[in-house]
Amino acid sequence: MKTILEKIRENAAALGEQTVYSVYYMNNYAGGGREFPHLTWKELDEYSGKLAAYLHRTCRTKTPVVVYGHKDPWMLVCFLACVRSGRAYCPVDTSVPPARVRAILEDVSPETVLATEPLEYSGAPVLDKAALLAAAEGEPGQLGPEHAVSGEDTFYIIFTSGSTGTPKGVQITRNCLDCFIQWGITLGRGLDGGRRRVFLNQAPFSFDLSVMDLYLSLYTGGHLFALSREVQGDMGALLDALSCSGAEVWVSTPSFADLCLSDKKFREELLPRLELLLFCGETLTNRTAERLAAAFPRAETVNTYGPTESTVAVTQVRVTPELLRQSPLPVGAEKPGTWIFIQDAQGNDLPDGEVGEIVIAGDSVSTGYWKKPELTGRVFGSRSIGGTVYRTYRTGDAGTKRGGQLYYQGRMDFQVKLHGYRIELGDVEGNLLKLDGVRAAAVLPVERDGKVRSLTAYVAAERSGDDFADGQRLRAALKALVPDYMIPKKFVFLDRLPMTGNGKVDRKALGGSGK
Ligand code: AMP
Repeated sequence: MKTILEKIRENAAALGEQTVYSVYYMNNYAGGGREFPHLTWKELDEYSGKLAAYLHRTCRTKTPVVVYGHKDPWMLVCFLACVRSGRAYCPVDTSVPPARVRAILEDVSPETVLATEPLEYSGAPVLDKAALLAAAEGEPGQLGPEHAVSGEDTFYIIFTSGSTGTPKGVQITRNCLDCFIQWGITLGRGLDGGRRRVFLNQAPFSFDLSVMDLYLSLYTGGHLFALSREVQGDMGALLDALSCSGAEVWVSTPSFADLCLSDKKFREELLPRLELLLFCGETLTNRTAERLAAAFPRAETVNTYGPTESTVAVTQVRVTPELLRQSPLPVGAEKPGTWIFIQDAQGNDLPDGEVGEIVIAGDSVSTGYWKKPELTGRVFGSRSIGGTVYRTYRTGDAGTKRGGQLYYQGRMDFQVKLHGYRIELGDVEGNLLKLDGVRAAAVLPVERDGKVRSLTAYVAAERSGDDFADGQRLRAALKALVPDYMIPKKFVFLDRLPMTGNGKVDRKALGGSGK
């Protein structure tokens, strides 16, 4: 089995001038331009090898490197440069507001920051795009493969919503990523076998869903076609981008597919080469799967399940017409090297058919949260299976197993998925409490048809007498602290929040579940 870095070098040698990555930005639409910013396999290999040599020469420590930007081709160069120099990378997207970017930077304390978009930070040198190019071009040669991250070294750290108002970094090793890829290339009718495919990238690189399209594409010698955030917010541009993409493998959240399905043009004629749709991150409903099957009768749909903490996904099921007779759809069977246990609150395994917490054991489970040993100890553990000890992760997801299939049954805590984004309600509450005049806050999901549609914030705060204006003020102030997708749609002002007997906010009284 070849490691991801060996395979990338092999592909680069074979594919040279062919495109490895391109991105469709809004000005491709506005200007009608068909020259997409892109990168060839040769450029990716040479620039990343030289930038790796630069990092090796100029950095004293192996501290992870923060890579900041939004889908710029050079982000890929930076990711590979970091790991080729023996350093993990931590991708941060421009949708993260400055205060939160700063919190991540302070948590990681990088020795250097690589930024393809403007970034203000005084804690470490920030190499902008011009400096990155100069650094790579200034090196006489590429860094040798012996310096690269190996085995149990951390390959990347992805920050995800934390329940106390600050994000937490999930550390994924090179072994985890390699195990994920070995399984990933078998999905559908299989992705390896020499044919180069176009993969679609929807998720920003700071979300682990992007690992699925990025690394399956890099491993199989593919071409990753990325859609920028602005393009995803403009249906005309989005449809144009999709028709230009020539996509053969689709990777997205079901919410994004729903957005596309809202336009009649989203069908086979738009993406005639589409052969596989891979979903992860939230419930794939029968309705979405049925509409996709009607729009793309020749493509296969695969539902996968997994948290960032177990490297993207660990179960899969092909959504066939027979399976569509079941509702809800299962999330599938474990990949080789992964075992899923359903446990009660005491950690006892439950038999098939009973509902409990989904616990994942196996070769792609993270080593834990960056610099958070206490939190890591609470949810990560280990378990001996067949004489080998594997790491385990308690997901906080409720589920049940039947006939070898896992069924997802919602969360056991206050984490939600909204439009595919993972949000700890405590993260929004913690940030609301940082705002002037806010004494108490509770954030509740608003659900319809089993899906979270928006968030409502209940706040006890100083009031001007104009609740609408107060809501706008809090919304604007919150925008500086959390990404847009975490901002509650509705603000309800109360003199005080209702409390339960044991002093917690009474969520039931506010109309939520009493978890
Ligand atoms: P993330 O770390 O952002 O990938 O979010 C992980 C969480 O998303 C899981 O713990 C589940 O709650 C949810 N999730 C992931 N995949 C699925 C799926 N196929 N169906 C339902 N929920 C999912």
